[in-house]
Amino acid sequence: MSAFEYVDGELRAEAVPLAGIAARHGTPCYVYSRSMLTQAYREFDAAFEGIPHLVCYAMKANSSLAIVDLFARLGSGFDIVSGGELERIVAAGADPRKAVFSGVGKTDAEMEGALAAGILCFNVESASELDHLAAVAGRMGLRAPVSFRVNPDVDPLTHPYISTGLKESKFGIEFAEAPALYRRAAAMPSISVRGIDIHIGSQITDLGPYREAAGKVLGLVDALATDGITLSHIDFGGGLGIRYRDEAPVALADYARMLRGLTGGRREALLFEPGRRLVGEAGVLLTRVRLLKPQATRNFAVVDAAMNDLLRPSLYDAWHAIDPVRPRAAEAKLWDIVGPVCESGDFLGQDRKLALQEGDLLAVRAAGAYAMSMSSNYNSRPRACEVLVDGESTLLIRRRETTAELHAQETRLP
Ligand SMILES: *Cc1c(COP(=O)(O)O)cnc(C)c1O
Repeated sequence: MSAFEYVDGELRAEAVPLAGIAARHGTPCYVYSRSMLTQAYREFDAAFEGIPHLVCYAMKANSSLAIVDLFARLGSGFDIVSGGELERIVAAGADPRKAVFSGVGKTDAEMEGALAAGILCFNVESASELDHLAAVAGRMGLRAPVSFRVNPDVDPLTHPYISTGLKESKFGIEFAEAPALYRRAAAMPSISVRGIDIHIGSQITDLGPYREAAGKVLGLVDALATDGITLSHIDFGGGLGIRYRDEAPVALADYARMLRGLTGGRREALLFEPGRRLVGEAGVLLTRVRLLKPQATRNFAVVDAAMNDLLRPSLYDAWHAIDPVRPRAAEAKLWDIVGPVCESGDFLGQDRKLALQEGDLLAVRAAGAYAMSMSSNYNSRPRACEVLVDGESTLLIRRRETTAELHAQETRLP
């Protein structure tokens, strides 16, 4: 259930009117619901109750410290993709021993940091990465825990930019090459072979690709076992979609039933790397209409949030619902909701039927994932603030950046 509902003609986050948050903290502002975040994690975790498993929140979806802290308190592990994310989980008080480290281009320094922190596993994506990792671990006198990310060559039926499990993708190791690589890794003194993982894409709304990929990976695990290589975990990655418009997301119960059916009786622990599914629907981006610019062919509503705050519409042509915080009774017109950034691609939504006046507040929905974490300072715009709502209380979890901070690391010519 959404915590963002209308009560007495105005949109609230849990028990707090969004207009009050905008008045107090200004706009643009991200607002998250603690109860929705908690519920999303608990639902995922509970779906696999009774079997050894670990949910590793893919924190690139939203890496704000308070969000990481919240999931850590709920017992979550983390899927990290950089040394910066490792430092974030440590700063948030989370346990690096519950972190898996994904990504195609880990540096030696990142490997060293993760080995020193004692992470759960490196998700290794190439033969060359294995050699680099073995060398780093060898120098440190340690054994690096390793899982290979294999590429099952499955079409996740989603946007090409967020498809990662096709042969053509830069991600993962080709299936046919995996057995030889496992044999090689098993013989390396500074490597400890632990698991296998897949991640086929994002915003997946069909169970079919998951079933196909899981079947392939389990077949590979069995083939490895006949080779004498036994694994302690199987990581099914992330990618479960959410509802932005009219999608029918995969029900967690169906996803879990499918995987329970395929893995029943196995001894490996199951790992998951959900990102979007845990945070996407739990956030909105609050923005205020600066001015209205009706034109002959299109009507533009210029708002104070822009592509630097929320890149998804510009980058992937993503659709987010945009709702008035206090709906007006007046006649609605079609509006393009655009930001002040100097790019034609700077829009949050197009052809939205709304009754608008200057100064109105809008809520861009399902903005909890790949939103704040993808924000930038393009056009020298300070990044937005973030507020976490918990029942009747609000907590400013990131204050708005100042313009002075934007150039604090820079120097003028000597
Ligand atoms: C991004 C990513 C995820 C999370 O994807 P979602 O679609 O947000 O669930 C999980 N695993 C890896 C390796 C990723 O790169």
